[in-house]
Amino acid sequence: MVDTRNDDAGRGGAERAARRDEAVRAAVERGLLGPATPIVGLLDVTGIRESAAELRAAFEAVVAPGTPVLHAFAVKATPLVPVLRLLREEGIGAEVASPGELALARAAGLPPERTVLDSPAKTPAELREALALGIAVNADNPQELGRLDALMASAPSRSPLGLRVNPQVGGGSIEALSTATATSKFGVALRDEGAREWVVRAYAARPWLTRLHAHTGSQGVPLSLMARGVAEVHALAEEINRRIGRPQIDTIDIGGGLPVNFASDGTSPTYTQYARLLREAVPGLFAGRYGLVTEFGRSLLAKHGTVVARVEYTKSAGGRPVAVTHAGVQVATRTVYAPAAWPLRIAAYDAKGRPKAGPEAVQDIAGPACFAGDLLAEARALPLLEPGDYAAALDTGAYYFAHHYAYNSLARPGIHGFAPDGTGGVAFATVREPQTLQEIVAESGGARANALTTLREPGRP
Ligand SMILES: *Cc1c(COP(=O)(O)O)cnc(C)c1O
Repeated sequence: MVDTRNDDAGRGGAERAARRDEAVRAAVERGLLGPATPIVGLLDVTGIRESAAELRAAFEAVVAPGTPVLHAFAVKATPLVPVLRLLREEGIGAEVASPGELALARAAGLPPERTVLDSPAKTPAELREALALGIAVNADNPQELGRLDALMASAPSRSPLGLRVNPQVGGGSIEALSTATATSKFGVALRDEGAREWVVRAYAARPWLTRLHAHTGSQGVPLSLMARGVAEVHALAEEINRRIGRPQIDTIDIGGGLPVNFASDGTSPTYTQYARLLREAVPGLFAGRYGLVTEFGRSLLAKHGTVVARVEYTKSAGGRPVAVTHAGVQVATRTVYAPAAWPLRIAAYDAKGRPKAGPEAVQDIAGPACFAGDLLAEARALPLLEPGDYAAALDTGAYYFAHHYAYNSLARPGIHGFAPDGTGGVAFATVREPQTLQEIVAESGGARANALTTLREPGRP
């Protein structure tokens, strides 16, 4: 484990923790959180702005002057329009991978030139729309490239177009998030027989194919492996340009995937560490011959989100204390279904939202869903929680409470952003209203209650 206490990241972590504690206390005081609203998501606006600024600075420090760089936030990490708008203000674009994500980016006001479309299953209609808007598209496979051929022949487009390759450098500790394994479903598998040659010819035949894309991993993939993936992609771009005889590929999209430290408040690794490692491992990438696109998701938002849930009951089973809270599988789906891969830190707060003191006891932090495995944390040492206290799942700003899972028809919690109010207090702004019971009924076919009873089979009474 990297010790981050004495470096910038560690200090930033302590400030972040202090802001979070202040926000939880203020949320209880204002009634954003309480008996009637027992779960809420909180987003640290200061922290999000800081991470965006760190990302920009890290790459500005390593690229040649004048290099075009687009940091496109992977919208799937936190698909919330106000978050995308905040990032837009911080100079960050959007990487989208579905019609829904594109709609969110457009609702946030992201212009086409700051948007990248990368899904493995784009329909002809999606491709046509992206090309009409001028959004950058990375084709995933030869069949999709064929569709782009037809579209480019029928109407000109200013969309920058690229091809996604899988350098097949290997996986990380989480199989489901390892995109560069030999059999990954993404991109053109570069080491398969004949694939490299096919890719070179694909570029030679298409002067409009000017970008090369790879995303070689996410949480669990070591930095060194990510850098190897980027090095492979850079070497391929060099080979293609050399064999075509001109710099046709002008932009390399290195994907996202910087892992997040879920074990403490410190940020590690940092964007600066990754950018420096890339400069060492792939110096040619920063020599000014290529523009750059990045697609970070989790690392921009994870540390800035907290889901806070009220403890409804406490009990003991088989000698183990259990705190039954309102946060479980509906907001922490990955952690509940794959607890070994996705452990979350839990912070205990008292009924007034103050950090809970007292001797620690090993306890389970359970969620509200009706299955035994619905646990946010198992056998965790924390001050013994009591009814009316709050349990906070930390580092949940990406792929957690923004990714509601409708088990037990549990309502989507409200999400509020917070920032200093300028007079020593905390200001809140609602990002997403809590889902209402009427909305749950409507989204569950409430207007079609008779749909099945009126569908009569012939001959039946
Ligand atoms: C998911 C994804 C990302 C972002 O990954 P993170 O681990 O959240 O940084 C970037 N690019 C593509 C193509 C992705 O699928």
